[in-house]
Amino acid sequence: MEENFRDSIGTITEEGKRNWIFPKKPSGRFYDYRKYVSYFLLLFLIASPFIKIRGHQFLMFNVLERRFNIFGFPFWPQDFHLVVISMIIGVIFIALFTVAYGRIFCGWMCPQTIFLEMVFRRIEFWIDGDRGAQMRLDKAPWTGKKIWKRLLKWSIFFIISFFIANVFLAYLIGSDQLLAYITDGPMAHVSTMVPLLIFTAVFYFIFAWFREQVCIIACPYGRLQGVLLDNKSIVVAYDHKRGEGENGRKKFRKNEDRNALGHGDCIDCFQCVNVCPTGIDIRNGTQLECVNCTACIDECDHIMESIDKPKGLIRYASEDEINHKNKFKFTARMKGYTAVLVVLIGILIGMLFMRNEVEANVLRLPGQLYERKENNIISNVFTYKLLNKTTNDIENVSFKLMSHPGEIKMVSLEKFTIPAEQLAEGTLFIEINASALNGDKDKLKIGVYSGEKLIETTITQFLAPRSYN
Ligand code: SF4
Ligand code: SF4
Repeated sequence: MEENFRDSIGTITEEGKRNWIFPKKPSGRFYDYRKYVSYFLLLFLIASPFIKIRGHQFLMFNVLERRFNIFGFPFWPQDFHLVVISMIIGVIFIALFTVAYGRIFCGWMCPQTIFLEMVFRRIEFWIDGDRGAQMRLDKAPWTGKKIWKRLLKWSIFFIISFFIANVFLAYLIGSDQLLAYITDGPMAHVSTMVPLLIFTAVFYFIFAWFREQVCIIACPYGRLQGVLLDNKSIVVAYDHKRGEGENGRKKFRKNEDRNALGHGDCIDCFQCVNVCPTGIDIRNGTQLECVNCTACIDECDHIMESIDKPKGLIRYASEDEINHKNKFKFTARMKGYTAVLVVLIGILIGMLFMRNEVEANVLRLPGQLYERKENNIISNVFTYKLLNKTTNDIENVSFKLMSHPGEIKMVSLEKFTIPAEQLAEGTLFIEINASALNGDKDKLKIGVYSGEKLIETTITQFLAPRSYN
């Protein structure tokens, strides 16, 4: 097979210029399914920052204030280990998922594909028409009609980019904050308006001009495909055995017995190429540019129907399935990977639910050693920090020494309240009789109680003179 198509990417001409892709408007079974999935995901993406669960925004990534909510669970900087574990699980998930199912994520779930193919591209089809009309309009002189169409399209693109930038900001600073800023008016918050316009410009640039280049050039996940896919991965694939036959593909001629002539079912109509949003010919085999959007499957199915051949010349299949003419099977490997993925997700959900609602830190005051008191009592001074991660106040909070007999003396109130989502901090003394100590550096276990209920434990170090060892 000629491999020179791999020397360059489909969107760059031989002269190194941008080869603008005018894909044909897709239609068919998979495109319909993808539309339904995209409606759901768009709704999810847009609504998530505005949904509240127990007072917490459903999804929030406030990097500036280091406040994160994932599925309504607030994460604090103290929970960073959970974020790291989620990211590791995410990477394993992506790797296993891709090895088994190829780039299904790119075609069906990636926000880039969804916004480009299901929002911006559909507006383009609506204003400029299908592939042929778009190409003619592109070459046409700047008449009043062309100027009107371009202005209309670019204005709508700008408005949608501005809307996406607002949603993006709701993820970043919180939807309450965003709505408050909108109510106050842009002039009252120029320092937020400027980044908002920068985000708008970035989204406009991506969806109006950069487009499929994101998947081909910029996306790290796309670049990883070469190492993640193998012959067993399910990808959008052209059945070259069936399409080429013994004597290759050939244009369709009525009343010709293609099978007798040894030609395959591909009639070289180029419809699968014309519909491809990344401008590639899937008949050359799996390529880095293919985002598994399924448009070529639908298009080829239409052609197969029109020439009375079975559908599925291009379909979801692995290289092995095509080479050995096997039917799609949910293999042991795929079952195994799916089981691992389910277990990983289960672990993450379990960790989210088992997460402590209070974070306690009791640390010795820096620079202070110990104090000898009457009756063989040793005293250390500590500062405490208690973080309430819930949306409710935690009342009647007190400390108890769990590992040693001794006393905890608060500098301020003995019992206090930790306000919702706030930090309570202060100073306390711990007094222990030297005879109860095991050495000059004892580990103390301290219980944090709300009323009689133990809500958290923490460990700290207690210093004593060496002579007591
Ligand atoms: S659409 Fe199908 S028949 Fe037409 S060129 Fe592509 S693979 Fe061949
Ligand atoms: S080759 Fe087919 S599945 Fe891949 S990007 Fe092009 S149209 Fe989509």
